[in-house]
This record gives sequence, C-alpha cells and structure tokens, in this order.
Amino acid sequence: MAKDDIVTIEDIIDKSSKYLTDEDTAFIRRAYEFAERAHAEQFRKSGEPYIIHPVQVAGILVDLEMDPETIAGGFLHDVIEDTDITLEGLEQAFNHEVAMLVDGVTKLGKIKYKSKEALQAENHRKMFVAMAKDIRVILIKLADRLHNMRTLKHLRPDKQRRISNETLEIFAPLAHRLGISTIKWELEDTALRYLNPQQYYRIVQLMKQKRNQRESYIDEVIDEVADQLKDVNIEAEMSGRPKHLYSIYRKMVKQNKQFNEIYDLLAVRILVGSIKDCYAVLGIIHTCWKPMPGRFKDYIAMPKPNLYQSLHTTVIGPKGDPLEVQIRTKEMHEIAEYGIAAHWAYKEGKQVNNKKSFEEKLTWFREILEWQNDTHDAEEFMESLKVDLFSDMVYVFTPKGDVIELPSGSIPLDFAFKIHTEIGNKTIGAKINGKMEPLDYKLKNGDIIEVMTSKHSYGPSQDWLKITQTSQAKNKIRQFFKKQRRDENISKGKEAVDKEIRALLFEPKEVLTNENLDRVNEKFNFSGEDDMYAAVGYQGITAALVATRLTDKLRATRQKEQDLVQTLEEVKTEVKNKKSPRGDSGVHVEGIDNLLVRLSKCCNPVPGDKIMGYITKGRGVSVHRADCPNVQTEEAKERYLHVEWEENQIDQKQYHVDLEISGYDRRGFLNGVLQAVNETKTNITHVNGRSDRNKIAIIQITILIHNTSHLRKIVERIKQIKDVYTVTRTLQ
Ligand code: MN
Repeated sequence: MAKDDIVTIEDIIDKSSKYLTDEDTAFIRRAYEFAERAHAEQFRKSGEPYIIHPVQVAGILVDLEMDPETIAGGFLHDVIEDTDITLEGLEQAFNHEVAMLVDGVTKLGKIKYKSKEALQAENHRKMFVAMAKDIRVILIKLADRLHNMRTLKHLRPDKQRRISNETLEIFAPLAHRLGISTIKWELEDTALRYLNPQQYYRIVQLMKQKRNQRESYIDEVIDEVADQLKDVNIEAEMSGRPKHLYSIYRKMVKQNKQFNEIYDLLAVRILVGSIKDCYAVLGIIHTCWKPMPGRFKDYIAMPKPNLYQSLHTTVIGPKGDPLEVQIRTKEMHEIAEYGIAAHWAYKEGKQVNNKKSFEEKLTWFREILEWQNDTHDAEEFMESLKVDLFSDMVYVFTPKGDVIELPSGSIPLDFAFKIHTEIGNKTIGAKINGKMEPLDYKLKNGDIIEVMTSKHSYGPSQDWLKITQTSQAKNKIRQFFKKQRRDENISKGKEAVDKEIRALLFEPKEVLTNENLDRVNEKFNFSGEDDMYAAVGYQGITAALVATRLTDKLRATRQKEQDLVQTLEEVKTEVKNKKSPRGDSGVHVEGIDNLLVRLSKCCNPVPGDKIMGYITKGRGVSVHRADCPNVQTEEAKERYLHVEWEENQIDQKQYHVDLEISGYDRRGFLNGVLQAVNETKTNITHVNGRSDRNKIAIIQITILIHNTSHLRKIVERIKQIKDVYTVTRTLQ
C-alpha cells in the first residue's frame, strides 16, 4: 500500500473479504459506522473529517490481516478518549473483546514519554506491553502511531519533534520486537525526517543520484541468477531490496561511514519455495561470485529473537562492488515483514472464527523461541512478551514521570525502597494517583506514586517485612533493623559501661579519655568506641570487663594511695588491741622491793636513760628522766629516791616514747616516716601529723621501744628519710 493513499471503508471491506467471512466484514462495517457517527463534527489538525484517521488505522490493520475485533478496534480506538461513548456503551454495541482493546489503546494514549534515557525508554516499552494486556492493543497503537506520523506535517514543529522522538524511542523498537518491519521502517524513516531533516534529505538525494545505475546493476545480477536457477529448476522471486533511510543514516552516523561505503545499498532479495531451495540458491550465488569473509549469516538455523529467518551473504558482485543477497522462503518473508501479525494470519488463516486464546498463540511463540540457540536474545524477547503473558511485572510512574519496574504485587513501600533507601525508611504513607492509599495497596500499571515521608518517622516496622514484595525492599528493611539494633546496643552498652565505672568509684568523664579508650579498643580489637559499646550492648563482652580495663591505670594509682591509708589503719588497730606493758615498769628501786613504781608520762623514760625516782602521795614512786623539767622542783628534790633499770629484763619490756619529726611537706612524707619505723619492727601507738603554711610537716608519733639504743636506731633511720629536717624526743 502506498503510504500517501487514503483508504476508504470500501477498500477495507474489499481487502478484508479476502480473508474474513461475510459476517466478519459486516461486523467491521458496523464498527466503521459507529465510529463515523461518534466522530461526526470532529476534524483533525489537517482540516479533514476526523473519521479519516480511524479508517486509515483500520486500513493498516487490514493490511496486516488482523482479526475482525482488532480491525473494529482500529475504527473505534479514539471514541472513548474523544467522544461521549463509554466503555460500557462499546461493550453493549459490540462485545467485551472490542471494548477491552479500545480501553487498552486509550490507556496507552495517556502514557507520555519524555525522558531520553535508555533505561527509561526500555521501561516505557515494557510498560506499554504490560498495560496493553493483549498484544493486539499494541498493534492498534502502532497502526495509530503510523498514521499519526504520516500526517505529522500538520502539527507544530515542537510537537513534531516530541512525537518523532517518542516514535523512535518507543514505537519503532516495539514494532521491531514484534517483528513488524514494514511498520518499524516507516516509523523510523518518518521520525528521521522530522528529527534530522538535513540528513534525511541529503540521504534521499544521494539515493536518487545513482538510482538508475544501481537499478540496472541489480537487474544484471537478477538476470544472471535467474539463468542459473533455471538450470537447476528452482523457482524464485527476485527483487532489489528496498532501502531504508534510517538504517543508512544510522550506519553513516553511528558507524561513521561514507554513503558509498554502505554495502546493502546494493542488495538483492530472493524468495523461494522451501528451506532446501534457500541453501541451494546460496550455493549458486557463492559459485557465481566470491563471498566476502565473515559476512554470511544463517538466520534460518538461528532465527533472530523476533523470529526473523533468512540467509544473508555478501559477495563481490559482477562489477567488483560488494553485493548483499538475502535468501528466504515466502513464509519467512511474510514473518520478516509482518512479524507477530503474520503469525496471526498464518495460524488463524481463513478460520478466524475458530479463535484460539491469546495464551495459546503465545505458547506457540514460545515453542518457536525454544528452538533457537541464540538464547540470550531469545530470553530478552520472551522477557518483553512475558510481562504481558504472565504479568509478573508492574510499571508505575514517579511524580516526575519516570517509569519504575516492579514485580507484580508490589506495594508503595517496594516503590519507595526502589527509589531510595532513605525514602523507604522514612515512608509514612503514599498517594496513588493523587489519593491516599494504605501502604499495602497493590500497585497497578500506570499508577502515579507519590511517597509521603517524615523526618520524624521511627523507620520501618516489622510488618513491612511481611507486606513488601521485592527482595530489595526486604533487604533494606532488615539492614535498617540491624543498624537500629546497633544504635540501641551502643546506647545500652554505654549506659552499662558508665554504671560499672561508677561502681569502681570513678567518674565516667575522667575514665573515658581517648588514651584509655584507644588502649581498650586495641586490646579487644574494636574498631572504635561505638564498636566497643555495641559489643557490650549485645553482650559480646561484659561491661564490668570493659570498665575494669578502662580504669586499669587509674586504679593502679589509687591502689598505692589506699595501701598507705590501710597501713596506717592497721598500725592503729594493732596498737589498740595490745595490752599496755606499763604495769611492770622494769625499774628497780634501791632497798625497796615490790614498791609500786610508775614511769612518768611526761618524759617517758626508757632503759638507758638516766632516771630518778620521786615518791608521790599515795601513788607510789614516779620515775622520771633525770633531765625532766618536772623533777627539777624543790618539792621533787625533797622526795628524791634513787632508782635504776633492772638489767636482766631490759629487752622484754617496751616503753612509750614520743617523737616529733619535722620535714618538707610532700606527698608520701608521712608514709615514709611510718614505713621507716615499721621497718625497724617498732610498734607505733599514736600518730599525729599536721603541716603549716610554709609546707613544713610536723609528725608526732608515739612508739614502743626497748631501750635507748633501740631508740637511737629509730631516730637515725628516720633522719635518713628524704626531706626530714629534725627528729626530737618530746616531753608532754
Ligand atoms: Mn488515533
């Protein structure tokens, strides 16, 4: 069909009657009449009555030999969008199938493509297929787009570009996927004309220039092949292969080739009756002309993903130029041109009334695909059909119009986590097509999802793991919980460690220095403070152990101080518990036995001291040192009594002596003195210490000694202590 011709309803009836029953053609005519009434009074941008457009669309579908419902769908495809007709109205007037097809086309019309990103284009294409539910919806949509492209000149340049771009990104690839090359090529060529008119017209010019030359060359080749084929009795249809501007353009632009470097400008197509003949013809071609290495492709043994089958070879032709030859059966050619639509025609043939279900048709497709060795591409192709077949994917929009692909059954949360983890974590609700819906709402193709988030959200709830569909969302939710528990563990751990530190009578502040933390982290292989607290939090290590290690150094210092205090306490206790030996003074009074003798407390005489006795009223004899000031009085002299130490018991008895030590008041001074005394195995019964403003320490101790030489030893020992100024035996 020439693309500029306008087809009429009579043309369509004429064509369809060749493969449809009278009943079916009547059905088609009724669809036309219905559409004509609905669109009456409407006009296109071109000024033509609107009905011309649906008629052309139906015309394209008839050329593809589609079934009556699809053709009716072509006539009616715009009535829901552009007229008062409702879906219910259509279903009543025709049937559910027609209504469903028109509804599908209407929905596809609402998808607006704007992104140029490859992934987005792919998602859009998938969305089309998914939303279409029935491949025939796509076929109607492709026919619609084809006619719109044919009449694009009536639109504003910006619209021309937008629509052309969409055609190139979405519709031409879809046509290609479905194997409908005739539509694909025309869409591409027309889009190029609007997107890059300069290149388009340049290629048209170049093609024209050598057209006659090319055509006579092709004729020469065809004649020669025909001669050869006659000899072997093979019937064939041969023609020069039509050129497609867009594919030439792509080769020039993408592969950076000159126009005359493009091989397939010279191409011959040979159609034969059988696969056997295909290979026979190939042999003949290769005998006539030398094949170019690496240019032979056997798409019969290995069909392309869209089921294209053919033999391709390039030979050095009669005039020394590369010549491309395509050899295929007529059936293969039908598929090459009409793709999935050709299968329809072939499988259904004249018995369209005996409809098979859509699934059955695609099962057949699948079988074909399974024969293919090129599994990767075959899978890809199945993938694009599968979304429709098994509807395991759902395609939805972001508010900005990006298409997001999700497994079917997905909910707004799956969508949110697919967009961004943080969005997922902070999700509190979702608006679907502008309306608030619950978080477990099942997404539908074409839904526009607006995720509501809140900074104050506490994050995912455990339920989300049950309701989300995608593993991506589930993983991210699990990660959140893991991380959240870590945060919890850290604060729990910190609390526990602080508590233990306080139990050790330290302030966490003084303990948690970088130095202490680093030391402990290194010891236990923690990567940092948080790591350590987290470990305590999940009880990988006890808080007590961590606190103990953290306070190692501080405790060592404090232990020393405590040890000193303890020594002092022990000395005091020891002295308290011991019986004072004063009852037995060890002093012998000349001439008097068993006289009560008391050693005076004022001067504390010890064996070795010069002593004198002094008789007190009713309290026996008081013994003083000879130099004691208290006995230098007149009264004492009157009562003087000669006394002396009992020699044999000297070492068994102990006597109190008061010493006063002065020295520089430094830390540990007192302890030094006490230790020195202790080292001489001398008991201390009383200690008193003070220091004055000049940092002079005065220590008064009372010790128990045996005699003056013992005392001297002690005094000498004390004097050796650093910073001791004086040691004095004091009187009380
Ligand atoms: Mn339309």
